Amino acid sequence: MEEEKKFTHLSELGEFGLIQELTKGLKTKQESTFLGVGDDAAIIDNANKLTVVSTDLLVEGVHFDLMYVPLKHLGYKAIVVNLSDIYAMNAQPKQVTVSLALSSKYTLEAIQELYAGIEKACEYYGVDLIGGDTTSSLKGMTISVTAIGQGEKDKVVKRDTAKVGDYICVSGDLGAAYLGLQILEREKQVYLENPGIIPSLDGHTYIVGRQLKPEARKDVIQVLQEIEVKPSAMIDISDGLSSELLHICHASGVGCEIHERDIPIHPEASEQALEFSIPPTTCALSGGEDYELLFTINKEDFQKVDAIPGITVIGEIVDKEKGCKLLTPDEKSYDLIAQGWNALLNKDVE
Ligand SMILES: [Mg+2]
Repeated sequence: MEEEKKFTHLSELGEFGLIQELTKGLKTKQESTFLGVGDDAAIIDNANKLTVVSTDLLVEGVHFDLMYVPLKHLGYKAIVVNLSDIYAMNAQPKQVTVSLALSSKYTLEAIQELYAGIEKACEYYGVDLIGGDTTSSLKGMTISVTAIGQGEKDKVVKRDTAKVGDYICVSGDLGAAYLGLQILEREKQVYLENPGIIPSLDGHTYIVGRQLKPEARKDVIQVLQEIEVKPSAMIDISDGLSSELLHICHASGVGCEIHERDIPIHPEASEQALEFSIPPTTCALSGGEDYELLFTINKEDFQKVDAIPGITVIGEIVDKEKGCKLLTPDEKSYDLIAQGWNALLNKDVE
């Protein structure tokens, strides 16, 4: 008979015991990490570079559901979504801090799983985990991650600098993460109603993967640097294309026109959207959690950017007076709106 697996209650360890368990063997690799975990504060030496900081808070039951999110994936994703914000400034993430509030239902072994994901992401993106905090919570888990990066004055890209005539570009494909979430929610309901049935994710590998294990587009930042193209404005797509494009347009005081036919959508996402009776475009515009990069470029850079696989030009920045529009293949024009997906495509303006 298999020996019963022993779990360690966090109360047996105490806060310092837990921190010690989680941070043992942690090594730093960034030159700018002057001092990592182990003192009152970490020390970062960014020399004459700009320091770029972004932070995020994830609450169990609001931002994640452990019924279908493995703890290791959760740890990985918590890091990735923060790094994505640093890359969206055309900067390089170097360090992260991770803070946790944990209820008594979590064991050391569960938190070690979460940390395995955190460490995997730190390894893959080459960032150092340099500090954080742990505390108890009355209910569930809360994770706060802060990412710290380096930027250069003449290279950082903000969202308020798009110019009329610029082309609008997007990396990867959109809408899949939202559809992956819908599949996971559906299978959860099936399981809750009939615990005897083992949920099946067959045929949904791509979209479920996009939801559970997103990646930050470090590679896109790198390739833009290689071809010597600096976007005029940039943002990462965490809340859907519409919402992010409106952020750029409002901040820059411009309008935009994007073409529905050019919005990149993965075939598996399209197929699943249609099966749910949602237009695939709606998922791309309002789905969220794709963590792709949305950026604008000077028209002169078009040839260079167009040659990069996986980057799609979807439209153009126009005068503010023209508004922010989606043009359909049958030449109809719709206002882009940053509402929930069900409120989409409901306003014909012509
Ligand atoms: Mg962002």
